[in-house]
Amino acid sequence: MDYQRFFEEAIDQLHAEKRYRVFANLERIVGRFPRAIWRDGSEAREITVWCSNDYLGMGQHPDVIAAMQDAAGRMGSGAGGTRNISGTNHPLVELEHELADLHGKEAALVFTSGFISNEAAISTVARLLPDCLILSDELNHASMIEGVRRSGAEKKIFRHNDLAHLESLLAAAGPERAKLIVFESVYSMDGDVSPIEKIADLAGKYNAMTYIDEVHAVGMYGPRGGGITDREGLADRIDIIEGTLAKAFGTLGGYIAGRRAVVDAVRSYAPGFIFTTALPPAIAAAATASIRHLKHSQTERDAQQRQAKRAKDVLSAAGLPVMPSETHIVPVLVGDPELCKKASDRLLEIHGIYIQPINYPTVPRGTERLRITPTPFHSDELIGGLKDALLETWQALGIPFAPEKREAPASSERIVPLAVNKAGG
Ligand SMILES: *Cc1c(COP(=O)(O)O)cnc(C)c1O
Repeated sequence: MDYQRFFEEAIDQLHAEKRYRVFANLERIVGRFPRAIWRDGSEAREITVWCSNDYLGMGQHPDVIAAMQDAAGRMGSGAGGTRNISGTNHPLVELEHELADLHGKEAALVFTSGFISNEAAISTVARLLPDCLILSDELNHASMIEGVRRSGAEKKIFRHNDLAHLESLLAAAGPERAKLIVFESVYSMDGDVSPIEKIADLAGKYNAMTYIDEVHAVGMYGPRGGGITDREGLADRIDIIEGTLAKAFGTLGGYIAGRRAVVDAVRSYAPGFIFTTALPPAIAAAATASIRHLKHSQTERDAQQRQAKRAKDVLSAAGLPVMPSETHIVPVLVGDPELCKKASDRLLEIHGIYIQPINYPTVPRGTERLRITPTPFHSDELIGGLKDALLETWQALGIPFAPEKREAPASSERIVPLAVNKAGG
């Protein structure tokens, strides 16, 4: 075995498929969000970030930074141990109380990331339940898929948001068998929302447990920022709510919230929770400050929704192929991995606009896109600049515009629906 060559070929494969990932080296600037310094070799330039998951700019909120600095100043940098062996710091305990309250649940448990929370909680719950069948939405995030796999339980994948398909799988399993439905509220690549109430109804009818990933909704939806389940008054209909502290809350970490016995079982049985160092007190304190602020302040949520809608309207009116989205996410279709990467490079190098290309396997082949995430800090002026830069890029690279904005078709059959309007699909 030529090990060196093996790994080189694995990388070459990604280059050949035009999906080798290149990371932008960024330095965010406090007080000037969404501006950042981008370093390319020896060159350093100021650019505008249009693809951050710091959806509300809370990572730079003065209260959040102050809480982090204060806790680090008083308690130091690290937690000093696992949760079991000296790492359970007071700010982390407070954070768990804050999260349980946010979702109106008996208890919450914090993990070192949202990825780990999904992997650890789904695998542990499904492993503890005897002969559990997992019903998993086909577009679930990689971390949920990992949890399903690690559980060792049987799984059935239901078509995305397809209630009839889900019901047929539930009915086939019968009411006696243990069942866990795992799904998301906001799907982050398309920006669509799942039918939570109807899924909860089905779970009730067939006696299944429910597990929802609200990672792209917490902080941003609901009167207290508890996510779509908060907005729709459905938190008590879902057994386990999972979220992240790293997106709208602007810090780091993941969590689950639910009934005390379920949370305690995950705490007691999940290796991904037990055998790793606890979140540092400064991060926990910052997360709590962020959650508390967003429990009371609607300003950031309103401004984000307003600027996201404005971005969709302005880009659509310019003829850019904005994909339909019910949420704050603004996906713009490119439909080809190489063009997607080229568009992203051109935006950064010529226009100082950073939007990471989203290619397979994150999204299906042929639906490669630029995923734009406007925040309260992306002003009308910045949106105008984005539109001009995208138009220049689309024209320069020959990327298809939205069908209705094409030159007047000679006959109606030349109108191509957006879904099949893919360059090199
Ligand atoms: C980002 C993401 C996660 C992981 O959260 P992290 O805190 O970044 O590890 C989980 N689920 C979904 C749907 C995500 O997009």
